Amino acid sequence: MPGFSRRKFLKASGIGLGLGFLAPGQFVAFAADRSHEPAARTKHRVIVIGGGWGGATAAKYLRLLDRSIAVTVLEPNKQFVSCPFSNLVLSGVESLKNLTHTYDGLRRHGVKIRHEAAAAIEPDQKRVRVGKDYLPYDRLVVSPGVDFLWEQVEGLEAAKDKLLHAWKAGPQTVQLARQLQAIPDGGVFVLSVPLAAYRCPPGPYERACQIAWYLKTKKPRSKLIMLDANKDIVSKAGLFKAAWKEYPNLEYQPASKVEKIDAASREVTTDLGDKIKYDVINLIPPQRAGDIAFEADLVGADKRWCEVNHMTYESVKQKEIHVIGDATIGLPVPKSGNIANSMGKICAVAVAHLLNGKEVPAMAPGNTCYSWVNNREAIAIVNTYKLENEKVVQIEAKVTPGQSVAVAQNSLSWRASIWNDVLA
Ligand SMILES: Cc1cc2nc3c(=O)[nH]c(=O)nc-3n(C[C@H](O)[C@H](O)[C@H](O)COP(=O)(O)OP(=O)(O)OC[C@H]3O[C@@H](n4cnc5c(N)ncnc54)[C@H](O)[C@@H]3O)c2cc1C
Repeated sequence: MPGFSRRKFLKASGIGLGLGFLAPGQFVAFAADRSHEPAARTKHRVIVIGGGWGGATAAKYLRLLDRSIAVTVLEPNKQFVSCPFSNLVLSGVESLKNLTHTYDGLRRHGVKIRHEAAAAIEPDQKRVRVGKDYLPYDRLVVSPGVDFLWEQVEGLEAAKDKLLHAWKAGPQTVQLARQLQAIPDGGVFVLSVPLAAYRCPPGPYERACQIAWYLKTKKPRSKLIMLDANKDIVSKAGLFKAAWKEYPNLEYQPASKVEKIDAASREVTTDLGDKIKYDVINLIPPQRAGDIAFEADLVGADKRWCEVNHMTYESVKQKEIHVIGDATIGLPVPKSGNIANSMGKICAVAVAHLLNGKEVPAMAPGNTCYSWVNNREAIAIVNTYKLENEKVVQIEAKVTPGQSVAVAQNSLSWRASIWNDVLA
């Protein structure tokens, strides 16, 4: 770490002070290319499963904190594609290219990346199976995001290759945008929302805004029917309701859970018995922690989400395995990229301290979440948290007074800063 001692780093990061300020971009000054520096002697091995928001952040910060930790990330995707802002790809306001990043920055920190999926975790042997290889670890960080509970909607499992969720940004996002563009003027687009908890609470409502905005401007005789399994809008409800006044083409149906889909006749049935015909559907399926966490039995009694220690993110079920990001529950935090990034940093600090036999400092996560409500304006929520008796509790949640261009511009600064923090 040229020109900056480890002590100063710990102080700046709040580790030495036991503080929890973890704003994105805070440590950009450390993002120098270190791939040509002589390797520090490896003392410990950490494997990170998943190179998304949580995993990439944890890997980078582990290397910043202690160069004697050999960090390997397992991530099948060759590039990082940001879910945040992917709703704007549907409306043509943004391109997927602008949301796609390489892993070169992580490599410059000396993180080893294998573009393969972890096939199994063997906690007793402290190793991860990858193809025919076994990778041993001293500590394992698991950040696999979410996978889908297809079986909870009748007919979905069989049709899942044809029906798009676009809830993991990538090729499906582009395909869904094409389906939206191809909808006949006068056509019906159905968007269905699963019961919370799911990835990104405000995400479906932002998506509704983008689809409704597109239809209003490009296919004025078409409509969007939003079937929400929840009783009301899950996040920023007042602000979304105000935004939807501009969208008479949006028909919002709360407490309408999709129970059945017939892809051949293009019809969904809700738990109220309503049958709705569609031209295009975006069925966002119910979710749980990513398969690898589920199969390693890291999930709790609900068989969906992983319970963790709020100070260290160590699994309450398996020692020396830490779980971060959307796969977790038990904290009063949303499943957001910002939270996964916070958890990645806090977990990195905890793992580095634990491996070095040191007491783990208390650090709380933070969250800012923007939602674009048309092609130029956005709304936002800021959640602040503290640790009380080693548990995360919310201090407050503040929303913007209304939608504005200024908030949308702030969101562009946020994304530049946080992408840097995760990957550069
Ligand atoms: C439409 C949409 C909009 C959103 N907007 C916002 C927003 O504005 N702000 C915000 O903060 N959040 C937003 N989010 C939420 C955010 O994307 C997630 O909360 C975040 O991605 C969670 O990070 P993660 O690390 O848990 O999972 P991910 O980022 O999904 O990373 C998981 C990674 O693990 C990999 N993986 C899975 N299984 C394995 C395995 N067996 N072996 C190896 N690798 C594996 C996957 O390939 C993936 O790359 C949005 C989400 C969506 C869908």
